[in-house]
Amino acid sequence: MRDVIIIGSGPAGLTAAIYAGRANLRPLVISGLEQGGQVTLTNDLENFPGFPEGVSGFEIYQLFEKQATRFGAEMLYDVVQSVDLTGEVKIVKTATETFQARVVIIATGSTPKRLGLPGEDKYIGKGVSYCATCDGFFFTGKQVVVVGGGNSALDEGLFLTRFAEKVTIIHRRDRLRADAILQERALQHEKMAFVWDTVVEEIVGDTAVTHLRLKNVKSGESSVFPVDGVFVFIGHKPNTELFAGQVQLDETGYIETDRRTHTNVPGVLACGDVQDSIYRQAITAAASGCTAAIEAEKYIAENEGRAYPSR
Ligand code: NAP
Repeated sequence: MRDVIIIGSGPAGLTAAIYAGRANLRPLVISGLEQGGQVTLTNDLENFPGFPEGVSGFEIYQLFEKQATRFGAEMLYDVVQSVDLTGEVKIVKTATETFQARVVIIATGSTPKRLGLPGEDKYIGKGVSYCATCDGFFFTGKQVVVVGGGNSALDEGLFLTRFAEKVTIIHRRDRLRADAILQERALQHEKMAFVWDTVVEEIVGDTAVTHLRLKNVKSGESSVFPVDGVFVFIGHKPNTELFAGQVQLDETGYIETDRRTHTNVPGVLACGDVQDSIYRQAITAAASGCTAAIEAEKYIAENEGRAYPSR
């Protein structure tokens, strides 16, 4: 029987592991398929305190993990297949092992949304991508489109200008959602162009993407846009399929928690993007991971009848 199992290895899960480790709870972290989570897709993390020159997402993941294992966290690079969180003893299963724990901390994050268009699935890896850090290099000297108007679209679009000849942002409105500083950088960038009030209707190609069919939502006019690569940054969906029917989700699929990261199930806490549809920052995820670990410690102490300093 484990004290704490943490599902997910992004900033939320690994911060929970650091705190739970320091509380002598010897947490087991089950990493999931994408070790380090979404932060590892960020090429240059510029707003995490303590890194005035910025840090790569992968580097900060390695630092988090090093810090967590230093305090006794155990890493398992595997994927959870099913859970039973309803009883006092929580059951967590991978393909080959079954674990039991007093507390489960869910930190499974969220996944980039797809457009759901004809041609999108067919051309993943052949021109369609959701990760500029992973795939940008393949578009050196080429024409690239970014779909979306938020921080991700502009951040990643700016990153793509290092490789691509031209990066065109296609946005469904005439105003960007992204922070002012990113808007300023993108709008002034010589390699960036903008197509407003426009949606992609189809991604077309032969062995790889060759062009997009676009529609202007104001005029209704259709057009063809020749392109080599399409990067989609239109938001995220929470990774909660494993927990549906066991913990309370909101209408958009995020786990409902109180401000202390408690779900509606005793002994089950949730932190990071899986329960946060608003802030979704590495720093807010890390902060909620800290809260979850402290609450786990408190829950275990109370269940054992031990006094725990009130907070
Ligand atoms: P987001 O802020 O939700 O923006 C999604 C964008 O995609 C919006 O512009 C939206 O258009 C557009 N969109 C949504 N569905 C679409 C569809 N089906 N077709 C076409 N366009 C669609 O998501 P995000 O940019 O991934 O950012 C997520 C969070 O991470 C945010 O809180 C953001 O601040 C944060 N983030 C921060 C940084 C940074 O600080 N540097 C970097 C990356 C991400 P509308 O505007 O019309 O809704």
